[in-house]
Amino acid sequence: MSLPLRQCCVIGWPIAHSRSPLIHRLFAEQFGMALRYEKRAVQPGTVLATLAHLRQLGVLGINVTVPLKEEAYPLADHPHARAQAAGAANTLWFDESGQLHADNTDGVGLVRDLSFLAVNFQQARILVLGAGGAARGILPELARHNRHPITVANRNPARAAALPQANEFELIPLEREFAQPFDLVINATSASLTAHTAPALSASAVGPLTCCYDLSYGQDETLFLAWARAQGVAARHDGLGMLVEQAAEAFRLWHGKQPETRAIVAYLRQPR
Ligand code: NDP
Repeated sequence: MSLPLRQCCVIGWPIAHSRSPLIHRLFAEQFGMALRYEKRAVQPGTVLATLAHLRQLGVLGINVTVPLKEEAYPLADHPHARAQAAGAANTLWFDESGQLHADNTDGVGLVRDLSFLAVNFQQARILVLGAGGAARGILPELARHNRHPITVANRNPARAAALPQANEFELIPLEREFAQPFDLVINATSASLTAHTAPALSASAVGPLTCCYDLSYGQDETLFLAWARAQGVAARHDGLGMLVEQAAEAFRLWHGKQPETRAIVAYLRQPR
C-alpha cells in the first residue's frame, strides 16, 4: 500500500532562487515519505487569499520567506511561542479542523548552524544587520543564549524600533563608526537580493578576529562575505547551513520526524 501524498510549499516574492523544495525532498527520502513540495510566487499583500486557496487544495505545511513573514504572522489562528516572540512566521500548517498554526524556525536554525560551525555566539558581542522578518526570527533566540545586549543596525530606524522587545537591543543607524570591532556580525538584510550590494557597514565594525555570518547564500561568495574578506575577516560563513537547519525544524513540526542535516548541507555545497 502506498503512503498518502503530503503536500507542502514555500511562498515568497521572489521565489525562483529557493532551495527549500530540494531540501524537503531530501528529508522526505530519509523516511521513505511521499511528499510534494512546490515553490509559489506570492505578491506582498496577497498572503491571506493565498492561504485560503492552499487550504482548499489540501496543502498541509507552508514555509514563508522574504518578504512575507510579518504579513503571514497575524493571519494564524494559533501563533506558537517563537512566532509570537518574533512577530513573524516562517512555518505555517493547517490542523485537521483547518485551523492555521504559525511558528518561527529561523532562530533555532541559525543557532544550530552556529553550533555546528563552532562559533562562540554565547559570549560574543553581536551586531545584527537588518530588522525585517529574518532578523525578527533570529534576535529572540540569540538574546536567549547571549549575555551581552545585542546591537541592531537597520537602514530604516523606525523598522528597528518596531521590533518586539526593541528595548532589549541597542538600536543604531546602519552607517556608524565603531571604537572596537564586534565578535560576530550577522547580515540579516536582503540587500544582496534587492539591491545587489552589501549593506553599507563601516569597516570599523569588523577586525581580523570577527566572525561574519551572512543569512544569504548562493553558489558564489555572497557580497557581504566578499566585503568581509576584503576587510581581512578570516571566519566567514553563509546561510546555507541555517537554511537546512530551519527547514529541518519545519519538517519536524509538520511530519513529527527529525531529519539528518549535515550530509544535506555538504551535498548542497557540491559544485554543479
Ligand atoms: P525582509 O524583506 O523582511 O527585510 C529586509 C531587510 O533588509 C530589512 O531590514 C531592510 O531594511 C534590509 N535591506 C534591504 N535592502 C537593503 C539595503 N540595500 N541596504 C541595507 N539594508 C537593506 O526580508 P527577510 O528579513 O525575510 O530576509 C532577509 C534576508 O535573509 C534575505 O536575503 C533572505 O533570503 C535571508 N534569509 C535566509 C535564511 C536562511 O535560512 N539562510 C532564513 C531567512 C532569511 P529596511 O527596513 O531599511 O528596508
